[in-house]
Amino acid sequence: MPAAEIVGGGIAGLVASIQLARHGWSVRLHERSDELRAGGNGLPIFENGLRILSALGLDEAIRTRGHQLNKWIIRLSSGQTTKEYEPFAATGGRIVMFQRQALVDPLAEAAVKAGVRIELGAKVVRAEREGVLHLEGGRRIDADLVVGADGINSIVRRSVAGTLPLGKHRKGAIRLLIPIHDGDFPDGNDRVAAEYNDEGGRRIGLLPCSSRTMYMILVALLSDSEALKMPIDPDVWKATFPTLGRFIDRVGTAGHYDEYHSIFPPTWHFGKCALIGDAAHGMTPALGQGANSAMMTAYSLGASDLTTGSLSDALTAWEDKIRPLVHFTQKFAEGITEGRLDPKNDIFFSDPALRPLLSADIPNMRFDMPDFAALNPSFSNAV
Ligand SMILES: Cc1cc2nc3c(=O)[nH]c(=O)nc-3n(C[C@H](O)[C@H](O)[C@H](O)COP(=O)(O)OP(=O)(O)OC[C@H]3O[C@@H](n4cnc5c(N)ncnc54)[C@H](O)[C@@H]3O)c2cc1C
Repeated sequence: MPAAEIVGGGIAGLVASIQLARHGWSVRLHERSDELRAGGNGLPIFENGLRILSALGLDEAIRTRGHQLNKWIIRLSSGQTTKEYEPFAATGGRIVMFQRQALVDPLAEAAVKAGVRIELGAKVVRAEREGVLHLEGGRRIDADLVVGADGINSIVRRSVAGTLPLGKHRKGAIRLLIPIHDGDFPDGNDRVAAEYNDEGGRRIGLLPCSSRTMYMILVALLSDSEALKMPIDPDVWKATFPTLGRFIDRVGTAGHYDEYHSIFPPTWHFGKCALIGDAAHGMTPALGQGANSAMMTAYSLGASDLTTGSLSDALTAWEDKIRPLVHFTQKFAEGITEGRLDPKNDIFFSDPALRPLLSADIPNMRFDMPDFAALNPSFSNAV
């Protein structure tokens, strides 16, 4: 049985591990943390990601642990509504909110069920293109395939591809979960996401993950240091978003701050090592597609026939097939973040160029690569 060693127990590593185990690999997953912790925030999973979860047999988790949205409202900072979308009509698919942990837990359960051995507290310090992992403490492991699913600062990528510059972008975000209180949804519909945008670049997203818990994201330009201070200064945010005081008051000292980064390695595979997820294609979160795309590259890698001919040819075929769509997504997200494309953040509802992504049938490797420039004339200038 060929042996795959996966570095990183995030969404990408877990999806790839399930797929590889189901395709005849002996799989071990190394996670440096002592548990598979997903951080206290939420995640919208779009139709492309949901199809992958379904293909992994996780429909029950989508139904019971996810929270399907039926409305997405775009507002000005004053609270005035500018657009309202019904996700299915606007994107051709569902949008289901998850608390991150509620997504990681069923993936981890499915991985264990598929026979994946998960090693916690296992920090990888170096990888070699020949399929070797070195762990903290001096342990060395030889593998037929090493998968770097270790995030944007991937040590696997650094080991096999050298130090590549991370794309730095002009925004940062604070993410957290807040409780939902009675009256937050005056019409009783708790499946409504709302985004509030200020012309100065501040944005607040309020996305319910259940009837009790709301994912809150506060975005600002890096130059806006008073907005990105941690813990947040509620008065700063309330001054910009006067109708959101009751939500801002629930933040307290909570929240995790991240700057936006992206990465474009020259290739996603080096010898016996493949990169997936943020390690391969970290992107700005403007389209909410980082984790969704991570599932696409992870699933498609695990579903590829990597054992019949040469591994190098198989990895090249995998990358050739999936990378153009993911690259488009990265560049589109970057264009929005940098203000080269419609900055109103409603682009994934209104732009037909995103339909191929949102309708991508990765489990069956069926998707179109249309002429994006023709679909969105500003796109050719933006990427
Ligand atoms: C502000 C912000 C908002 C976002 N919003 C969205 C959104 O709305 N929708 C969306 O789809 N995506 C969003 N994303 C992106 C999303 O979080 C990532 O794309 C996704 O988590 C990537 O998953 P991953 O498994 O590739 O990497 P990670 O989630 O980073 O997982 C990597 C794992 O590897 C482990 N690891 C790292 N180094 C080692 C090592 N040396 N040894 C062993 N283990 C190691 C880590 O502990 C971690 O568990 C957002 C990102 C940011 C910053």
